[in-house]
Amino acid sequence: MSLILLDFPRGLVKYRSKVGIRKEYQKSELPEYVKIIEVGPRDGLQNEKVIVPTDIKIELINQLAKAGLPVIEVTSFVSSKWVPQMADHTEVMRGIERHPGVRYPVLTPNLRGFHSAISAGATEVSVFGAASESFSKRNINCSIEESIERFEEVAKLARNMNIPVRGYVSCALGCPYEGNIKPVKVAEVSKRLYSMGCYEISLADTIGVGTPGSMKRMLEAVMKEIPLTALAVHCHDTYGQALANILTAMQ
Ligand SMILES: [Zn+2]
Repeated sequence: MSLILLDFPRGLVKYRSKVGIRKEYQKSELPEYVKIIEVGPRDGLQNEKVIVPTDIKIELINQLAKAGLPVIEVTSFVSSKWVPQMADHTEVMRGIERHPGVRYPVLTPNLRGFHSAISAGATEVSVFGAASESFSKRNINCSIEESIERFEEVAKLARNMNIPVRGYVSCALGCPYEGNIKPVKVAEVSKRLYSMGCYEISLADTIGVGTPGSMKRMLEAVMKEIPLTALAVHCHDTYGQALANILTAMQ
């Protein structure tokens, strides 16, 4: 697989000092703890040309949980017409073992997906918006504004059902159609997702064109709008920059 998908939230930005006193994480240092959200079964397999058999997916997810990963994004409840690799979402969701302490979020682009996900047993969902208008239109077939309206419906229902919602912002560091994306645009979309109740916003370098410089500029803009504890990054390794970008994000 050509992707390295590391999605880590800055949920724990506090560490214990040598004398055992909790200190605020300081800018120039690295966090002592990083949460890895494993997205291979969804983002990885969705990008594979061959369709991986359902039982292999289930086995992969079970093994990832046994390996100690705390959060595994299982599948995507999108239409199989758009993403045939994820057509077995219900079977996968129903077929996995649930390990205690492991969370299994799934992608739900709209209310229909949300309902299917819940009836398949999902207890956490993610919505995915884009910071690029062209990417939104081509990828999810609607404007950024329209997509946010759909997510608001999902988020509202999820809130009533006590289902946590994560939000993704695609193309946070560049778009295949528009090229550079302004950090302020990423901040704006992130703020919308956060205000509708997404507990965590994952800033995605969807096409892997980010660099430590662009990551820093983008995060500085987003951190003005969203608390650090609610931010995560999702870095594709298309040009071998994922680890450098992640290091920058941690700093
Ligand atoms: Zn991705």
